[in-house]
Amino acid sequence: MKYLSTRDNSLKKSFNEILYQGLSKDGGLYLPVEWPTINIDNLENKSYEEVALEIIFPFVKENFTRSDLQKILKESYTNFRHEKKAPVKELQTNKYILELIYGPTYAFKDYALQFLGKLFSNSLNVNPKKLTVLGATSGDTGSAAIHAFKTNQDINVFILHPHGKVSPIQQKQMTTIDEENIFNIAIEGNFDDCQNIVKTLFVDDEIQNKTSLTAINSINWARLIAQVVYYFWSHLQIKNKDINFIVPSGNFGNIFSAYVAKQMGLPIKRLHVATNKNDILKSILTHGQMSKKIVSQTYSPSMDIQISSNFERQMFESFDRDSHQVKNAFDEFHKTGNYLFSSQVINNFKKIYDASSIDDDETLDTISKVFEKYNYLSDPHTATGLKLLMDKNDDETWVSLACAHPAKFNLAVEKAINKTTDIPKELSNLFDKREKLTILPNNAKEVKNYLLQNI
Ligand SMILES: *Cc1c(COP(=O)(O)O)cnc(C)c1O
Repeated sequence: MKYLSTRDNSLKKSFNEILYQGLSKDGGLYLPVEWPTINIDNLENKSYEEVALEIIFPFVKENFTRSDLQKILKESYTNFRHEKKAPVKELQTNKYILELIYGPTYAFKDYALQFLGKLFSNSLNVNPKKLTVLGATSGDTGSAAIHAFKTNQDINVFILHPHGKVSPIQQKQMTTIDEENIFNIAIEGNFDDCQNIVKTLFVDDEIQNKTSLTAINSINWARLIAQVVYYFWSHLQIKNKDINFIVPSGNFGNIFSAYVAKQMGLPIKRLHVATNKNDILKSILTHGQMSKKIVSQTYSPSMDIQISSNFERQMFESFDRDSHQVKNAFDEFHKTGNYLFSSQVINNFKKIYDASSIDDDETLDTISKVFEKYNYLSDPHTATGLKLLMDKNDDETWVSLACAHPAKFNLAVEKAINKTTDIPKELSNLFDKREKLTILPNNAKEVKNYLLQNI
């Protein structure tokens, strides 16, 4: 399989060439030149890892043997806390929850980042070099990445988070990992400041000359293919012919993986995007209006995003894979802060997607209602989807994704149900452990010096 860029569809890169890179040099994102197809009948009675092997192999076969991939997958999912890895729970007839909360850090990011960690290790064994992972996090990505790379001494990991602005459990999950290759930097600023510093360092020649910098944010293609697996996996557990998904969304990575599953042959009819108050995706998908807005803080911080970076992949698809149109759209958007999609493209979005925005009150209300009615405790991200699931009354099969364990966001959950909740031992134990973090000012030069001293 070769890879093109959303801003240059004549590109033909190998999987190995795009593995460590987030962005293509032209500013676009990578996509395969064509969609492989999967015969679902061949997936029956297979384990999660065996299904993953069938789904992922076509994307990587130029650079990885089947047995290498098999080994990587086995290592990726061994320490997940559920034998099914991603179990489906039935709430009532035709309404299901796909639980993605059984990885080491209790959020769905583990399903992709554990895989990425093992994939990098395997690749570095073949072509040894030292890598430096650099990323900014508002919480879940950072901890999932630290847990994925913590034992690999060929990879140094620098994760920036906004000082004092991630949940206490999220902070402890990152800072209590006592490994020499892990560096937590708390920036005296907000998440955007962290992301800006990361962007500055990625184009810094001195750093590039001294180390291989690698991005692990959600635009990395290898992360998306690992996420395709659980859409097939949920269909195999439910067995109804057609299926529909509700996906709490921020950067559009998780739901785009569902789109990929559909292109590969999974009988998905509709995909319903759930957003919080930050509703740019709703505005694009229903009115074709892409405009810059200010990010509001909500109870679902991992969805507090107004520019969904993976949406560029859907634009490329809906523009009939015409990379000139993608480039022109972004040129206009960056110049004016606005872009209006044509009615033809809007109709193309609407063929697959619905989108709704759920505010903080509705989120807490849903956590409480679902808990009363089904004795099911959900985190605020998951609850944005469950609100839509509860409202469905169309005889279709709907699956809503559980994106994080409620204990990670216990303050909001306890506010919703008005009582204290149980926290898993692995999480409550974190509060007894020593933290390792460096607090730095909101200043790219200081972060650069720190990085150069420590690689
Ligand atoms: C990352 C994240 C999301 C948003 O997923 P995207 O792939 O960015 O759309 C939603 N919920 C939780 C808990 C997350 O960690």
